[in-house]
Amino acid sequence: MTSGGDAPGMNAAIRSVVRTCAYYSTECVGIYRGYQGMIEGDFVTMTARSVNNIIQKGGTILKSARSKEFMTAEGRKKACDNLKEHDIDGLVVIGGDGSFTGGVVFNKEHNFPVIGIPGTIDNDIFGTSHTLGYDTALNTAMDAIDKIRDTASSHNRLFFVEVMGRDAGFIALNTGVGAGAEEILIPEEDLGLDRMLESLKKSRRSGKSSSIVVVAEGDKSGRNVYQLAEYVEENMPEYEVRVSVLGHMQRGGSPTCFDRVLASRLGVKAVELLIDGKSNLMVGLKNDKVSTTDLEKAIKGQCEIDMELLRVSDIMTT
Ligand code: ATP
Repeated sequence: MTSGGDAPGMNAAIRSVVRTCAYYSTECVGIYRGYQGMIEGDFVTMTARSVNNIIQKGGTILKSARSKEFMTAEGRKKACDNLKEHDIDGLVVIGGDGSFTGGVVFNKEHNFPVIGIPGTIDNDIFGTSHTLGYDTALNTAMDAIDKIRDTASSHNRLFFVEVMGRDAGFIALNTGVGAGAEEILIPEEDLGLDRMLESLKKSRRSGKSSSIVVVAEGDKSGRNVYQLAEYVEENMPEYEVRVSVLGHMQRGGSPTCFDRVLASRLGVKAVELLIDGKSNLMVGLKNDKVSTTDLEKAIKGQCEIDMELLRVSDIMTT
């Protein structure tokens, strides 16, 4: 099943799980709408042919949902009864840390085998260098920023571009470096408004006539992207300031080759782990090798921002 926020590459992961089951002559059942579908018994038997022509599609054919009912013991009991009724003996959850938390709680209560595949564009899961959808989201956001730069430079404008990332600045930092932003504001590092202003003034003095500032949703400056723009406009009247919030378009689109390959690799491993009787693990990528992490560690572990990339970004904005 797919659960929580959707991410490009989820379909490729579904395809991989289904085909791996077929390869091992294991029956595979898809659960619609995440945990809510599990509670309602919204199941579909899937064969290798059910997943034809989906590897390139964004979103998730199994749909995704957030389920309040699954947060209750009663809801989880109903879900477990449904799984048993359909002779299901292992669960692959494709989702983010909330979905994994649900999986861990479910496993503890019902001793039901669960394997997690990290699917979220935020890349905020410990134990994997990449989550499914992250690479696609980076490329989507970077393309959008490139286009905004065209208009920024034609009008000598300063653009604040907000990208997704409530708690993590991975998208902001990487797209900021990739699209040549003048400043990057991320939750992990509070630059301070004065430093940002000083840096923009320095860029202006050095001859830049337009600028892009990439802001992560969860930036800790204490101001939202519109307030940040107002603050700069008040202090740098020479600039016309504009705001662009990229929003949900970052979740959509056809997955990149990287995400499709990653999804295929993780799906195979997830099914093989269940067949081997393993549980409570997340499959992920470490040093480009498929590896496993304890599901609880994946939820609780802290993902660190790449300090080397932060340094590169500082140097590039000189
Ligand atoms: P994203 O990273 O995109 O937000 P996510 O998987 O973290 O994805 P959530 O909405 O946090 O998304 O979680 C998805 C679902 O997992 C919830 O709607 C709920 O059904 C289940 N879930 C989350 N936390 C718990 C919990 N503590 N106990 C039981 N179920 C939970």
